[in-house]
Amino acid sequence: MKVYINGTFYEKEEAKISVFDHGFLYGDGVFEGIRSYNRRVFKLREHINRLFNSAKAIMLEIPYTKEEIEKAIIETLKINNLSDAYIRVVVSRGVGDLGLDPRKCKAPSLVIITDKIVLYPQEFYEKGLEVITVSTRRNLPSAIDPAIKSLNYLNNIFAKIEAIRAGCEEAVMLNKDGYVAECTGDNIFIIKNNILITPPTYIGVLPGITRETVIEIAKNKLKLLVKEEPFTVYSIYTADECFLTGTAAEVIPVVKVDNRIINNGLPGEITKQIIKEFKELTLTTGVPY
Ligand code: PMP
Repeated sequence: MKVYINGTFYEKEEAKISVFDHGFLYGDGVFEGIRSYNRRVFKLREHINRLFNSAKAIMLEIPYTKEEIEKAIIETLKINNLSDAYIRVVVSRGVGDLGLDPRKCKAPSLVIITDKIVLYPQEFYEKGLEVITVSTRRNLPSAIDPAIKSLNYLNNIFAKIEAIRAGCEEAVMLNKDGYVAECTGDNIFIIKNNILITPPTYIGVLPGITRETVIEIAKNKLKLLVKEEPFTVYSIYTADECFLTGTAAEVIPVVKVDNRIINNGLPGEITKQIIKEFKELTLTTGVPY
């Protein structure tokens, strides 16, 4: 497997970044997780747009155009002969000294790693996932805005550790006011009385590409009413259905939250329709290569 670093391909074992890179020293950088299905990159431009927005928010100027990065991604997929892949794009502040000052970092590093997709166990999709609410609150938008997909994921990792200790794969994170924000690597949706509800991004969540895709499916294909509004865990406990969305997880049903069983412990009917429509989109759209 070859890895792209600043315009050159290296064998996996030789793909290395300096220990003076501020991405390593301070988590100073941004990234994207993208997928390709059947030799098509799903929602490529949307991911690249978010990458550039994240970079802009941290005042990191990416020394490439969006087209150049897209081209490099496609080249990396081709050189590795991958038809269904997970793609990790990382832009770090680059090599500097041991201080924080980003002005010392003269050139950002661009890394593109592609790999075979590691799927969640099929059982999760068929039987649904159990999640718990954790005590770690999602980052304050006024401190590190969760809209920025930054290389500093400690907030999410703390929550993930709590979930793992409780025997769960995912954690529901609340914002500082106690409203449901998102999970450690996924957005969250509930369905109540045929209305699809998800937290608005302003309360402090990543504007997920899968989240956006699901909102479009719900509105345009399933003709559902969609609301982006704050809610507390009570709304999840009493929801008709619940599911999570993310590039890696796609759309995954949730059947138990903090020991409260949702929909008699079975993936919901609307959730199943959304999964079907989403699958279809992944196989019929995207940038071919
Ligand atoms: N929230 C967080 C914190 C994430 O890391 C991710 C995955 N990147 C998501 C939500 C889902 O976003 P997307 O659908 O764009 O993968």
